[in-house]
Amino acid sequence: MTECLFCRIVRKEIPSTAVFSSTRSYAFRDLNPQAPTHVLVVPRLHITNADTVMAEHADDLADLFITAQAVAREEGLVEEGRDPAAQGGYRLVLNVGEISGNTVPHLHLHVLGGRRLRWPPG
Ligand code: 5GP
Ligand code: ZN
Repeated sequence: MTECLFCRIVRKEIPSTAVFSSTRSYAFRDLNPQAPTHVLVVPRLHITNADTVMAEHADDLADLFITAQAVAREEGLVEEGRDPAAQGGYRLVLNVGEISGNTVPHLHLHVLGGRRLRWPPG
């Protein structure tokens, strides 16, 4: 059993607002949202960050992205079956290391949307 914050959220030891759940992933609302939709998608398996991903994590990563797709649709960020570029869309973010502002050492995909997202990011 790990004391990692997001492992504890996955185990429901710490409350969170669930958005979507699968056998390999869990999606919940960010505590400090940066956009109208700001959802974190995490693998149930502890992986530290994108820089420690290994080939054996392939199934967990595929599920992470498929869960993010489901979140985007549930949140109304894209219209089913349409081109996301023409119908809105969203941003997926993986922070790695202190320089990026990464604070929680458990892999998490930020799903951001519901407003125009500027580029380049800060
Ligand atoms: P990072 O900066 O590591 O990529 O993102 C960590 C994110 O986790 C931040 O956006 C932060 O607001 C969020 N966060 C930190 N602690 C908690 C928590 O206990 N619950 C939830 N729902 N989000 C958290
Ligand atoms: Zn963890």
